[in-house]
Amino acid sequence: MFVKSSIMDRRNFLKYAGLGSGTLALAGFSVAGFVAGRGKDGNTGYGKTPYGKDQFFNRKPFWVEKPTYEAVGNPQRIDYLDRLFKRNAEMYQFIYSVGQGNLETIKVQGIEGLPEHLRAYFQEHPKAFEEFFTAIEKSQEQKANWPKYRDKYLLADAWSSAHSSPLKIRNSFPPEPQGTPEDWDFKGVNPYPLPLKSPKHGSELIKKIAHSFGATLVGIAKVKPEWVYQGFLRGVGKGDFEVPEHWKYAVVIAVPHEWESFYANPTYGTSYDAYSMLRFIAGKLETFIREIGYPARSHVPPTQYDLVMPPLAIDAGLGELGRNGVLITPELGGNTRLAAVTTSMPFEPDKPIDVGIAEFCKKCKICAEECPSESISSDDEPTQNIRGFKRWSIDQDKCFTAWNSVGTSHPRGCRVCLAVCPYSRKNNWLHTLAREGDPRDPSGIIASAMLAMQKNFFDYPGANEYLPPPDGNNKTYGKAPDWLRTEEWFDL
Ligand code: SF4
Ligand code: SF4
Repeated sequence: MFVKSSIMDRRNFLKYAGLGSGTLALAGFSVAGFVAGRGKDGNTGYGKTPYGKDQFFNRKPFWVEKPTYEAVGNPQRIDYLDRLFKRNAEMYQFIYSVGQGNLETIKVQGIEGLPEHLRAYFQEHPKAFEEFFTAIEKSQEQKANWPKYRDKYLLADAWSSAHSSPLKIRNSFPPEPQGTPEDWDFKGVNPYPLPLKSPKHGSELIKKIAHSFGATLVGIAKVKPEWVYQGFLRGVGKGDFEVPEHWKYAVVIAVPHEWESFYANPTYGTSYDAYSMLRFIAGKLETFIREIGYPARSHVPPTQYDLVMPPLAIDAGLGELGRNGVLITPELGGNTRLAAVTTSMPFEPDKPIDVGIAEFCKKCKICAEECPSESISSDDEPTQNIRGFKRWSIDQDKCFTAWNSVGTSHPRGCRVCLAVCPYSRKNNWLHTLAREGDPRDPSGIIASAMLAMQKNFFDYPGANEYLPPPDGNNKTYGKAPDWLRTEEWFDL
């Protein structure tokens, strides 16, 4: 694997390219790329090429023995309260138990007034406690402002609700585990399994099946204990537990958000289009694996996971971790949402890849510059030691406050850092050139050129602009598609 040289900054790039002919050539290149990017044929993961053809990047030349995340200490399992949604759910439960009217009292009493497990967590993370209340205030403002924006975002709201409707019935599909993994994961397992020809056959079969169910990307990883949450297990509840023996492998699947709405984040996008697809794919895979004789458990969005997804997907060779804390893949960039199925079915696991994404992030920083809550580290190098791994820090509590601040209430999210990422681009000729050329370019020139083009010729609204007035103007990264713009279809 080649190691790229440093990526030039904007000034050096312009010096290098020359303000005359080089710039014009690149401007032409960018316009051509922009035009190519408008075609809907480049929407990877949506329709035209089923059965695995959307997983078109040949990963084998970029396989590495050690993944691109760096271990800097003893790996530790992640505490369930480290998950924002689990922590917030515990906080809400506490608030409801003492009465919602007591919110101000809970805030004034502070960390010491909390139940023991939350107290212990927030004593270590006092800023997260303060931010929880800021997020609530923002959410109240958001609700108060909603009548102003409701008509404008009517279609986006309806589109998001339609996607989230399959999730609204509790225990819908796939059903939530009830009982221990040794009981639940074995439900309906065929007692007469046929002998597999080899683990390789197992991997190939399950990938074809996952693609046939609609997965855009599929990879297989061995389950490492450090990716399994500690302190809470679905179906069992709170308490420490050993990683179940039959969680030997994870089949990791990915799909993108619909591309046009995705570019129109934060206000027109939603998380639920990808979430609902992942739930159906993973749930069907769980059933399929049990029917051929092996235990299986699906781990699906928005919160029904017992494992942390991005590092598992890195081990499964799907991509690398970006500065923004999400998985970036060669086919989908940051437009990659994840689910997994754990099983003991014999597989030949995939290897992690190094296509230079983690290296590119060191200079790019676009997500950090555009983040409306300044939650993403701008450090040149990943410096934080998080549970024994080096990575860029993400302030998930401030990020959640931004979710509660943007001009819509329907999808509760932002996703700007995914949409602005230069890797989140359609599959057109320009991006094929970058995707295939950059990892093979030892000089770093392709990465420098792509980054400079991105920063010089593409428009970014600017971090605050994504927020509603008075801080911003409800801007979106890209223009919303006509089918989500209410004013195109209704008299406002
Ligand atoms: S989702 Fe939005 S607020 Fe959160 S890190 Fe990404 S850009 Fe920042
Ligand atoms: S926007 Fe740039 S820095 Fe952020 S994840 Fe994408 S490539 Fe990395």
